[in-house]
Amino acid sequence: MNNLNYDAQFCAAKNAADRQNPAKLLLHVCCAPCATYCLTQLADAYDITLYYSNDNITDADEWNKRLGEIVKLVQIVNDGNYVVKPLRQLKLAVKPQCAAEFFRRAKGLESEKEGGARCEQCFDMRLGDAFDYARANGYGLVATTLTVSPYKNSRLLNEIGLRLQTDETKWLPTDFKKRNGYIESIQLCARYGIYRQHYCGCAFSYAQTQQQTTR
Ligand code: SF4
Repeated sequence: MNNLNYDAQFCAAKNAADRQNPAKLLLHVCCAPCATYCLTQLADAYDITLYYSNDNITDADEWNKRLGEIVKLVQIVNDGNYVVKPLRQLKLAVKPQCAAEFFRRAKGLESEKEGGARCEQCFDMRLGDAFDYARANGYGLVATTLTVSPYKNSRLLNEIGLRLQTDETKWLPTDFKKRNGYIESIQLCARYGIYRQHYCGCAFSYAQTQQQTTR
């Protein structure tokens, strides 16, 4: 059992962050609701690019809708209308949607529940994409908003990130669900009118959510 306190590691890293010459952080962002809280923790310490890379969101309309909410959130922050002022203007990079790799990885795991083996593949795919982009574009740090969700295994996410990191591109450990991160994300969404989706992202999680609501 790994009892590492990733939130404590994050707090220590943030305390040591150089705000005069901030590190370039590529923040993998799964959706705007999760980003709301994570930005309150990161925006005053890092030079952030949000990276929307979510081939797991298999419905194109939903993929676009979630991207639209992220664009809206970035605008709110950069206009100075958010609860925290960013150290640098936020930037946004987008990996065009291509669900084929997700479906390849999910093969044989379609009936897994959320939190199971399919999700591990999904995390590995998305964080792998983020590290590829970070390395190609000179980012020294990578993190993800996924650790704010109570439905996501933070230990697993951090283990994957630590496995993918290199000397040049490090993983920033986090556990954003600690210190009421998820509750605060719900409050921030209500305050800023951010759409909160009702299922995780893939066609399988959508079908499972539909089954639960029709029972
Ligand atoms: S339930 Fe969510 S985390 Fe799991 S595979 Fe589907 S989209 Fe990915």
